Amino acid sequence: MKCVGAVDIGGTKIAMGIVDESGRLLCRLECPTEACGPYASALQHITSMLQDAIQRTGAEIIGIGIGSTGPVYPFTGEFGDVNFFPHWKGESLVRDLEHAFHVSAAIENDADAAALAEAGWGAGQNKSRLVYVTVGTGIGTGIILDGQVYRGVDQAHPEIGHHVIDPSGPLCDCGFHGCWESLAAGPAIAAWMRKNAAPTYPYLADLSAKHVCELARQGDDLARRAVEREAYYLGLGLANLVAMFVPDTIVLSGSVMKSADLFLPTIRKIIAGSCRFVPYDKTELAMASLGDDTNLIGAGRVWFYRFATPARSI
Ligand SMILES: [Zn+2]
Repeated sequence: MKCVGAVDIGGTKIAMGIVDESGRLLCRLECPTEACGPYASALQHITSMLQDAIQRTGAEIIGIGIGSTGPVYPFTGEFGDVNFFPHWKGESLVRDLEHAFHVSAAIENDADAAALAEAGWGAGQNKSRLVYVTVGTGIGTGIILDGQVYRGVDQAHPEIGHHVIDPSGPLCDCGFHGCWESLAAGPAIAAWMRKNAAPTYPYLADLSAKHVCELARQGDDLARRAVEREAYYLGLGLANLVAMFVPDTIVLSGSVMKSADLFLPTIRKIIAGSCRFVPYDKTELAMASLGDDTNLIGAGRVWFYRFATPARSI
């Protein structure tokens, strides 16, 4: 069985593992991104943890795939100006890992990596037009058309999470007011609760999106309104995707989407009410099927996508 090393770089943690050619994750290790420090020490951490994963599994890796929070440049392997680690700009983990392990390596934006994994090994198999949407601390998206990652000019990764839903909404780092992420990512749920709760509301100290969803299930009135608001904004963004792309499938993932059952009835209503010029009912809303390790498995898929799949197919 062919195996690759996989590295998933996020704002809070860096995960590493070994992924085989059928998409199985054979081993998983992680460390907090913050603990990795500047680039040189992060590279050291990643290299030694990857060596550890190789030893634990006894796998002989034929390559290394990397998924990273962006912006990253897939064909030079370099990091752009990433919010979480500004001093990594211009560094190439692809080049450095190739040098350390004597195999080829490839990098993609983490949402594109996850989209590739779901398209190749998960809920999007045999779908030629797939949009992957992950909703957590932000909203990440990846578009797969006919088995290929859609890229913009200069190989840029489109940022659908930052399309505008309500120009009177909150200001986001992207420059827009009321982009999708600012209104519908996890932190927006907690922020709305804090803004609208009475000072005597008992749960103010611990208001994650997950907690709000639990409170809504228990019948808490304010939490139910927060969930309804979340469903509304998720629905508007997803309806825009349906209207603009009419994909076969939209694959939903991320921590907020673990409570998708709370949002889906409203999401479906909004899509049905606003996408009548396209066959919206043919677009399937599917849950990601690779679980919490979609990003790490996706990092492994990045290598197979770049080096081991025939052109025009996943
Ligand atoms: Zn934004």
